[in-house]
Amino acid sequence: MIPITKPMLGENEAEAARRVILSGWTSQGPEVAAFEKEFAEYVGAPHACAVSSCTTALHLALLAVGVQPGDEVITVSHSFIATANVVLYCGAKPVFVDIEPDTFNLDPRQLESAITDRTRAILCVHQIGMPCDLASIVKIARRHSLPVVEDAACAVGSEIFWQGQWEKIGKPQGDVACFSFHPRKVISTGDGGMITTANPEWDARFRLLRQHGMSVPDTVRHGSSQVIFESYPIVGYNFRMTDIQAAVGREQLKRLPEIVSKRRNLASRYKTLLAEIPGLGLPVEPDWARSTWQSFCVRLPEGADQRQVMQSMLDDGVSTRRGIMCSHREAAYPANAWSCAGRNAGTDCTAESCQCLRHSEEAQTQTIILPLFPQMGLDQQDHVVTALHDALRVVMLNE
Ligand SMILES: *Cc1c(COP(=O)(O)O)cnc(C)c1O
Repeated sequence: MIPITKPMLGENEAEAARRVILSGWTSQGPEVAAFEKEFAEYVGAPHACAVSSCTTALHLALLAVGVQPGDEVITVSHSFIATANVVLYCGAKPVFVDIEPDTFNLDPRQLESAITDRTRAILCVHQIGMPCDLASIVKIARRHSLPVVEDAACAVGSEIFWQGQWEKIGKPQGDVACFSFHPRKVISTGDGGMITTANPEWDARFRLLRQHGMSVPDTVRHGSSQVIFESYPIVGYNFRMTDIQAAVGREQLKRLPEIVSKRRNLASRYKTLLAEIPGLGLPVEPDWARSTWQSFCVRLPEGADQRQVMQSMLDDGVSTRRGIMCSHREAAYPANAWSCAGRNAGTDCTAESCQCLRHSEEAQTQTIILPLFPQMGLDQQDHVVTALHDALRVVMLNE
């Protein structure tokens, strides 16, 4: 069976975890600090703050930029549900904007019509590692004095051509970027997240909020020769990363260039091989973007049933996933929990079908995600392509 993905972990990561366990200090400490420093250097960010996941990273990012109950945050429905959930955690309402059908990313042409006097932030997503059109998004955001938070869960290693040069996602080009180290993403610490920003006040806020709002971190008290009493000026959370995870993350960072390069080679080979299949839509990478290809998503030919194609490939030993979900179609999002640019204008949209989010809904039902991982052999990749070709022949015949 060819899996959809496989984290690239080995002896170095195991040894790093062992070293931390035997040191006796396993919670947020020196390894987290070192991982933050190395990650910041890698993406070129002034500040990086490690947390327990990308979901908690996004939650703290929205709180830091000032999202409050009753506010609106503009984002996409077509994303993993955590993107929309963090807006609800803040008591705010997600306002969904449709995607571009070829990049699966927020369509900047729809952005301005979604802005109201309640809009407090724009939460854009670099979906499955493909940088979104930050140049257009940031321009509109600046015009309306809105902060841009980037959901970069899948974009560790992604690059964007920015003001005349290639930069890593996370510098950040917006105001705050949030990353994930879940095993389904590019590098993994089991679970884990990172927040980068150029704003030192926000960075201080993340550090306070991730550790119960505690004025003096335990690492400082531990290392002091004086007795220190901490205080709790605000209500915070426990969103810490452990030192065991951070030590694994530092080893993963060393592998990152190799991981990204292998993923890019496989993606480019997929594009060549899959071009042979009639009617299949291939992912589009704008010339100002370099993806990590965290997922390789193809659009099935018109009339091909998604479930049947996936079942046929599974029978052939290839696991796939359906296209990215749409949060507005889930029971957790009844019609009063969200809004969309069209609904503000009085268009009749329901949870079952939203005219304003047509491209999002079509991408969910018309695309599938193919296996892609750095250890993938060329014979395995050939097998995926053959399995897809065969599945489509059978499914289209039965139509
Ligand atoms: C995976 C993912 C998240 C959540 O990341 P966790 O680290 O699992 O919390 C958020 N947004 C997007 C776009 C994702 O793909």
